[in-house]
Amino acid sequence: MSKLNELTLAEARKGLTDKTFSARELTSAHLDAIESAGVLNAYLLSTTDLALTMADASDARRMNAQTGPLDGIPLGIKDLFCTKGVRTTAGSKILGDFTPTYESTVSANLWRDGAVMLGKLNLDEFAMGSSNETSAFGPVVNPWRAKGEAQNLVPGGSSGGSAAAVAAQLCLGATATDTGGSIRQPASFTGTVGVKPTYGRCSRWGIVAFASSLDQAGPIARTVEDAAILLNSMAGYDPKDSTSIKADVPDFTAACTQPLKGKRIGIPKEYRVDGMPAEIEKLWANGMDWLRAEGCEIIDVSLPHTKYALPAYYIIAPAEASSNLARYDGMRYGSRIEGADLAETYQNTRGQGFGEEVRRRIMIGTYVLSAGFYDAYYIRAQKVRARITEDFKNVFEKCDALLTPTTPSSAFGIGARNNDPLQMYLNDIFTVTANLAGLPGISVPAALDNTGLPLGLQVIGKALDEETCFAVGAALERAAGFNTRPGKWW
Ligand code: GLN
Repeated sequence: MSKLNELTLAEARKGLTDKTFSARELTSAHLDAIESAGVLNAYLLSTTDLALTMADASDARRMNAQTGPLDGIPLGIKDLFCTKGVRTTAGSKILGDFTPTYESTVSANLWRDGAVMLGKLNLDEFAMGSSNETSAFGPVVNPWRAKGEAQNLVPGGSSGGSAAAVAAQLCLGATATDTGGSIRQPASFTGTVGVKPTYGRCSRWGIVAFASSLDQAGPIARTVEDAAILLNSMAGYDPKDSTSIKADVPDFTAACTQPLKGKRIGIPKEYRVDGMPAEIEKLWANGMDWLRAEGCEIIDVSLPHTKYALPAYYIIAPAEASSNLARYDGMRYGSRIEGADLAETYQNTRGQGFGEEVRRRIMIGTYVLSAGFYDAYYIRAQKVRARITEDFKNVFEKCDALLTPTTPSSAFGIGARNNDPLQMYLNDIFTVTANLAGLPGISVPAALDNTGLPLGLQVIGKALDEETCFAVGAALERAAGFNTRPGKWW
């Protein structure tokens, strides 16, 4: 048998049910793997004692035949989810010593179903970034390296710790959040599966807010089925989040084996961007062939406002961030850095507590919301957002889901792109549209590029139709036969 941390979540669940191993053994295997992977910097905190206590409690439940759907399954939690009694930093110095007295709804749902918490995962500061390099606690290193190279690569972001931990087998699955691509882009960079559900599918309660109208929680896992199992537990209506949707949570695992015959898959022509590497074009074409072989009809569609999506996102997201982050003033929230008077205390607290990218977003957001510029930027961006949503509504009259690449490139080197913010923002070109329109999307690893790095394909579905995303995603996974893991060098 392979090492316990090398199993898929579904295999581990079966092993626990069959009593082939205990939750304590499964958890210990992961804690050992985490301990020897410090160089990846994926975990900001490993909650060893708590993990073993939770594992023992799970084993006791199993003795009494009182198990939940995730009983004994060890998971990592992105450090944006508040965890009761466990430090939660949002990757920021300003929350460096914050210990919540409450639990986020999503993580509470996982514990309700019996899961075990291994620790808190690194991320870009306040989830702002595409490479995990904005974390105040240092970058995460992608467990993947290009063939024959020793250069450290980024895992993508902002859920870089989640993606790296899943890829390096330091947990069976992880929570993540996606405001503009932060689940799907790191999944693509690490050969893992990432699902951004419909806006409102998972509760935002207890998740540190970045841009509230775009933020959505979802899972990162090693297979489509594992992601479906996790989302079944994470999702659900929550009266504590006013934007949470009152809708039944279907069985997403059943969707993974749904036949695709007769499904119409749209290929948006605007996603064929200038300078797209030939390999990504080819992967996209392969994806179309794989789905044709499953009986799908591939049709060309147009989302004409796509070119305005990134500019609109980078107005709306910073605007909401500047408002959400106003609370960290060292008085109400956040570590205080004293000054000679109140004004200087505010300046010190916010100037030193936030990193450069977060300060940039707060300044952009404050500017686009200020009197005189509000109409020109913020209102205009909202109008663009409405057009983008309408584009999707129109194409979904002709097709059931869209197929696109997840990212315009594979993982890049640490330090290679972090002095040009615009270059960094381009990472999100294929992912932000789903956030602006509130739609579900999945990234599935589909190939290795010629340097040996993973590339993902994205499926975008209709609102509340994650099932089709899972069905198409699972078909792509089967056809691609991608089960490669990074060679262990750490
Ligand atoms: N990379 C995007 C940004 O920096 C998206 C981040 C996210 O989805 N949290 O805003």
